[in-house]
Amino acid sequence: MKFATKAIHAGVHPDEATGAIMTPIYQTSTYIQDGVGGHKGYEYSRTLNPTRHALEKNIAAIENARFGAAFGSGLAAIDCVVKMLNPGDEVISTNDLYGGTYRLFTTIFAKYGIKFQFVDMSNPANIEAFVTPKTKLIWVETPTNPMMNIVDIAAVAQIAKKADAMLAVDNTFATPYLQTPIDLGADIVMHSATKYLGGHSDVVMGILVTDNEEISKEMYRIQNSTGAVTAPMDSFLVLRGIKTLHLRVQRHCENGEKIAHFLATHPRVDKVYWPGFETHPNHEVAKKQMRGFGGMISFTLKGNKLEDAHEIVKKVEIFALAESLGGVESLIGHPATMTHASIPKEEREKTGVVDSLIRLSVGVEDAEDLIADLQKALG
Ligand SMILES: *Cc1c(COP(=O)(O)O)cnc(C)c1O
Repeated sequence: MKFATKAIHAGVHPDEATGAIMTPIYQTSTYIQDGVGGHKGYEYSRTLNPTRHALEKNIAAIENARFGAAFGSGLAAIDCVVKMLNPGDEVISTNDLYGGTYRLFTTIFAKYGIKFQFVDMSNPANIEAFVTPKTKLIWVETPTNPMMNIVDIAAVAQIAKKADAMLAVDNTFATPYLQTPIDLGADIVMHSATKYLGGHSDVVMGILVTDNEEISKEMYRIQNSTGAVTAPMDSFLVLRGIKTLHLRVQRHCENGEKIAHFLATHPRVDKVYWPGFETHPNHEVAKKQMRGFGGMISFTLKGNKLEDAHEIVKKVEIFALAESLGGVESLIGHPATMTHASIPKEEREKTGVVDSLIRLSVGVEDAEDLIADLQKALG
């Protein structure tokens, strides 16, 4: 089956009791047994809930894998992956990383004796120097936030195989419609379903997917043992979101392309970070591993003044000033004072997060209206 068909049909079937075509929200904690052990596959909703189960099967199918697990947030999903490791193990991670992931690694797991290395993976060869016999996990985010760097997943998968380490890819920015890391050799795919999978800015959720049976057993054991599961209502919302993922992401890509080109020609704009440009340092890798370039764009202003960036994010009317991304509505953010405020200026500037950097999550509104909004704000 092709993507659009799987997005709508995989894992779901009409309710047998009533014929309801939509997966019911099974708002229940427990399930009646007709004798000890005589149940229908569901015993207790931390372990398994039918609405969540339908979502887990659906997301696994669209990532071209067999096993999915849904968590209470993206960070809870990442937490599950790191809990597959033991004290003394080492993790090599992308350096330009989602801030919450960095915080989880360095302030929670480092004290349990897991060692983290942060490496510029835009050239995968950089990773090799950090591989030791203790390397058990390589963590990749691509495209990265907010600099839109691209990491060659297939090349990193080769390094992970040689090192006998698991490769996990945070696929939040790309979505499975644009990029399927399992096909490129990844062992685990992670999502903040809060973003494009949910797609309507109304739920917080995390997802893990794997096609490796051994890893899946650990994943479900940890999911059930630590209990950071997602709720039936939220599972329903994300299942519904995924039904239009391909349609939404197509429009995110179209609008993203138009806005990236508009920004690139605007006299006040200095640099535009978007992997669709031939001048992007890893454009060829993006073209090879992605089926489109998405709707996430960052740009800087000539003169690089913080006040100018603040003025623009305030002046826009359709773009909403907010954290998060991936919803149908366009959002604008200022990383230096929002998502990356806790990182010292010198540190953040090394990765490109300068004072005038502005990040856009381009929504699915009319592109002409979005461009007119930016045009007015840029003056
Ligand atoms: C938002 C986000 C996360 C964390 O997900 P939550 O659902 O907020 O816990 C992880 N990675 C990326 C790339 C994100 O954008």
